[in-house]
Amino acid sequence: MATLQELETKDRSNWCPGCGNFGIQAAIKQAIVNLKLEPHNVMISTGIGCGSKMNQWIETYGFAGLHGRSLPIAMGAKLANHSLTVIDVGGDGDGYGIGMGHFIHTMRRNFDMTYIVENNQVYGLTLGQTSPTSEKGMKGPSTPFGIIEDPVNPIRLALAGDCTFVARGFAGDIPHLTSILEQAINHKGFALVDVFQPCVTFNKINTYAYFRQKVYKLEESGHDVTNLEEAFKKAGESEKLPIGIFYKVDKPTYESSDVALQDGVPRANVDISNVNVAEVMESFM
Ligand code: SF4
Repeated sequence: MATLQELETKDRSNWCPGCGNFGIQAAIKQAIVNLKLEPHNVMISTGIGCGSKMNQWIETYGFAGLHGRSLPIAMGAKLANHSLTVIDVGGDGDGYGIGMGHFIHTMRRNFDMTYIVENNQVYGLTLGQTSPTSEKGMKGPSTPFGIIEDPVNPIRLALAGDCTFVARGFAGDIPHLTSILEQAINHKGFALVDVFQPCVTFNKINTYAYFRQKVYKLEESGHDVTNLEEAFKKAGESEKLPIGIFYKVDKPTYESSDVALQDGVPRANVDISNVNVAEVMESFM
């Protein structure tokens, strides 16, 4: 069982002061502690982007993949070790742009993992271009006259894609986000947690103040998380923005359905007791 101190890394993050990623990082750590997970049983997979450095600054296992390609790595990790708690973290550009294909197919396979999307509605790492979730009309270095496309609605996309746990949080409400993450990690299947994550440097529209004024909690509005039609309606709201769990349903996971894995994960019967691990590592350097 981990403590918050044990999840600290020696290095400190280099996110901009006030970045919403700090709130998400705090919520991930708190959820790991609250769920009494062992750090060596947690793997955080990431792609490329500001928030994809998340696994550099949480003391669990981690794998930094390519832009938009973190989900296949997460799937592979889950296939190789079913008892691992797999958390994938990436931005909206990473997951809803170049990684969209992986997002759709990981959802429909229903791997048991949690996918946290830091949705700041902008490409922060590359200095503020508009992203797949940028609001129509938003100006950026690549769209000086304002973006003319409608944004992706990730919640509706996930509902249509048969995602078995669909939620949205706000990086400015860490206790609420922690509670969502705990439920997402406990869910047996693919859990999407889209998070409003203010980018204080490049997105001057979707700020902490903007979200504080607009968000409300689904669980306080009597929302029924088993009602798919109602979840679609809630996902389309824009005057006020619901956060919390939109929808959840139980379905068999991919790893429990694969006949090749019914007797557990196949393991090579190789004696490695005399292997010098340091030498093996050295040979890859
Ligand atoms: Fe965070 Fe934006 Fe700074 Fe990136 S550029 S670290 S998303 S505030």
